[in-house]
Amino acid sequence: MYTYWKKKSPQEIRERVFQALAENVDYRESNILGIPASYLDEKVFNQDATFLSNAPYISTLVQNPNHIGCHTLGKSESFFRGTQEIERELIEICAVDILKAKQGTIDGYVASGGTEANIQAIWVYRNYFMQSQKASRDEIALLCSVDSHYSMNKAANLLGLDLYHIDFPEGSREWSEEHIRMAVEKAKQEQRKYFIVVCNMMTTMFGSVDPIDPMLAVLEESGCEFKLHVDGAYGGFYYPFTDPDSRLSFENPAISSFTLDAHKMAQAPYGTGIFLIRKEHIQYVNTAEASYVEGQDFTLIGSRSGANSVAVWMILMKNGPYGWQEKVFILQKRAEWMCEQLQSMGIVFYRHACSNIITIDQNYVPVEVASRFGLVPDNHSKPNWFKIVIMEHVTVEKLQLLLDSLKQPE
Ligand SMILES: *Cc1c(COP(=O)(O)O)cnc(C)c1O
Repeated sequence: MYTYWKKKSPQEIRERVFQALAENVDYRESNILGIPASYLDEKVFNQDATFLSNAPYISTLVQNPNHIGCHTLGKSESFFRGTQEIERELIEICAVDILKAKQGTIDGYVASGGTEANIQAIWVYRNYFMQSQKASRDEIALLCSVDSHYSMNKAANLLGLDLYHIDFPEGSREWSEEHIRMAVEKAKQEQRKYFIVVCNMMTTMFGSVDPIDPMLAVLEESGCEFKLHVDGAYGGFYYPFTDPDSRLSFENPAISSFTLDAHKMAQAPYGTGIFLIRKEHIQYVNTAEASYVEGQDFTLIGSRSGANSVAVWMILMKNGPYGWQEKVFILQKRAEWMCEQLQSMGIVFYRHACSNIITIDQNYVPVEVASRFGLVPDNHSKPNWFKIVIMEHVTVEKLQLLLDSLKQPE
């Protein structure tokens, strides 16, 4: 069932990472005189061999490989080929074993985060429409729901695109065909002919998931060309395990790309946004002027740490696919327990059945309680909702303390 993703022992993980590091250049041993980089400053960072020999991730940080560029196509900097291979393996695991792509059909890289991965996707599609469909920038619209992450606003602003938000029916967190149609019609009236569409696989505030089929129905009926990106920055390492038959996977030919953030649900260090896109797309953002980089640069970021890929790869390999399922299963059980308690207390909340976010109506949350429990509001100046995110450290014990402090309806 899983092609590449197999649980490894700590020793196997250590051996694989140290073998990769051995294939990278070693600034100490070899004569590398031409790159503006070195190992971490040893006056500051402990490089004691006995300390490092048991710590593959810290060792990678110390050796400081630069993963500049994209390593799933063409050539790459040969200095860091060992850890680049780990990144390639990680991209393929996420594409094939989490998102059901066919082997060898996906390009991608470990971006700085979900924001960059989303901007990268929208950048690719904007250039695709402009270069291959001869669209003008004014004819391209970015289309997503009102609950989408604000990185969409950044992307629209940076790339000079107009953003069309889709509303929800009163009291719902899901778009309807009617609401999609309203946004598409408005865009068409304003001479937009090409759509860059983003579907959420768990939104930041509500954990809600955009139904893709009504979107595809309306786009088809509109006769407009479109490219569809899935923002799984939040849900990428969660939702595929709670809804294994989801329409949001690479099995769905309408979807071209995904964002997944390992630094959210996967407890990886920051700097681990994962960008995945079907082959024959990323070429639209090649910067050929990156002539000093071997293999040129198909990414937004430029220099980036190879330690980030190693960290995510280690996390996935330590847990293995079944360990991951169990981890998600426990969080789901806690979320269900919490929802039952809230329900029995008569407290109004939203939760998507496949998600670990519970968003509570502000009427039940005294301001002091929100701050004591670190609940995050949808809007800091005028909160309507406060969210709980059920993570590893958010135990039933801690949830009970919150329940004891919430305001019960009269
Ligand atoms: C967090 C998040 C992002 C942005 O990710 P960063 O890693 O913070 O840049 C984008 N989309 C969604 C749905 C998110 O939850």
